[in-house]
Amino acid sequence: MAKRYDVIVVGAGPAGFLAAKAAGENGLKVALLEKNPDPTRHTRACGETLGSMNEYYMGNITGYNSRDKRLFFSSDGFSFKYNGPYQNLYGVRMYTPNGHKIVIGDLEEQKKKGDYGKVGISFDKDIMFQCLLEEVKACSVDVFPGINVQKVTTTANSVTAEGSGQSFEGSYLIAADGVNSRVAQMMGMNEGRTYYCNLYALSYYMSGVELPEPNVIVRVVGFVKERGAEIFIMPHATEEIHNVSLLSADPRADLEATCDYFMNKAFCAPWFKNAKKLRSFSANENCYSPIIDPYKDRVLVAGDVGSTQELENQGAMLSGWKAGQAISTAIQEENLGLEVTGISQYTNWWKETYINYYDHEGYIKAFTHGLILTVEEEVNYVYGLVKETVPAAWHPYTLGVHIRQAMAKVMPIIQEERPDILQKLQRRSLPATEIYAEVAKLSKPVS
Ligand SMILES: Cc1cc2nc3c(=O)[nH]c(=O)nc-3n(C[C@H](O)[C@H](O)[C@H](O)COP(=O)(O)OP(=O)(O)OC[C@H]3O[C@@H](n4cnc5c(N)ncnc54)[C@H](O)[C@@H]3O)c2cc1C
Repeated sequence: MAKRYDVIVVGAGPAGFLAAKAAGENGLKVALLEKNPDPTRHTRACGETLGSMNEYYMGNITGYNSRDKRLFFSSDGFSFKYNGPYQNLYGVRMYTPNGHKIVIGDLEEQKKKGDYGKVGISFDKDIMFQCLLEEVKACSVDVFPGINVQKVTTTANSVTAEGSGQSFEGSYLIAADGVNSRVAQMMGMNEGRTYYCNLYALSYYMSGVELPEPNVIVRVVGFVKERGAEIFIMPHATEEIHNVSLLSADPRADLEATCDYFMNKAFCAPWFKNAKKLRSFSANENCYSPIIDPYKDRVLVAGDVGSTQELENQGAMLSGWKAGQAISTAIQEENLGLEVTGISQYTNWWKETYINYYDHEGYIKAFTHGLILTVEEEVNYVYGLVKETVPAAWHPYTLGVHIRQAMAKVMPIIQEERPDILQKLQRRSLPATEIYAEVAKLSKPVS
């Protein structure tokens, strides 16, 4: 016999926790289902940064109130406790294979602005989940770890989720089961989405990493066995640890060999001479165009489920919160005999702040390293021309815009000196599906 709830939330990631919190705080009976046996231990790779703190993202400025240890979203007016460690991040450094550095955010200038100079913070995701678990339990959410939802069925006024031998019935369901959402797939919500590629990640917590500068995010690009390779190195919330990720959209890339290249052979190898791997993670992400209409048959999607590649932690939290509020409003409206607008408030918000506001094609092209410029010499030449300091940003959409603007300024030089490279760069204006066509043929979405 199914357990009966107002709302079933599938997935206890950033989106699911915030959805459950919003609905629970409004007095709804909420079940939060998570396939992992321990919802406070994250298992999927994540850089554990919260970015976009010096600008708006999805209609909000996100901040950290260090006095009261709360993360807050001031425009939408919610916050939650995070009492773990954190570090301020002031910018990004992008390195070419020969070690040329593009500076995104001048460290000293940004630090002079104090807390307002940071582009984001690094945080500890396990501790954040611990805090969120306490918050949802405090508002009477029933948390069910170890439930892998495998079936969702809907009727005119209810939805049932089944998995791991249990069944849960709700008036609504929030799908917050991440980028490879089984719920979205079962509901047919991936139909009509454009498939670009899969993105593969191998990540480590490492001690002993010695970067040239503190409090910045580092990205280094290179080539391993003629395939584009990149490494992201993030200062972890715990100062002596770095969160290191190898990424590729090419399933032929050997991420362990890529790791070996950056840590033992590339110009950045000295940064790793005393480094030790402490914990490992991985990810394999389906990359689609976004879900345009995030509601179908009493199922509302939140977080990475509906986004292109990812919404990032705070986009997931924000959409989770908004989804929980939307269901609360809809249930109140239904019971009060009012016109039901709660769901359309959410779908309109989704369309206005995400679908229509951001350039998803431009965003997904951030992972085309190795597919446009195909050898080290070209990458060294093109990015070596960028000498200006790029405005400080760690925002999934504006960072790319700043870099493209800096690149546009050096295009006349490239045109003059290397028309062969200019011709290759023009491929960037092709649809993302064309740029990824070769690797997409070799990948398939995880289901
Ligand atoms: C390598 C890498 C680095 C990243 N770095 C950053 C970063 O620095 N900053 C940032 O903001 N974002 C980063 N992200 C993205 C960020 O991790 C996601 O955007 C965020 O976690 C999305 O939250 P979510 O709740 O939508 O989904 P998820 O975090 O994926 O949570 C989904 C939850 O649903 C559960 N679940 C899945 N299927 C089922 C099922 N069938 N039944 C029950 N439970 C299920 C999962 O176990 C999981 O707990 C990174 C991602 C990757 C891969």
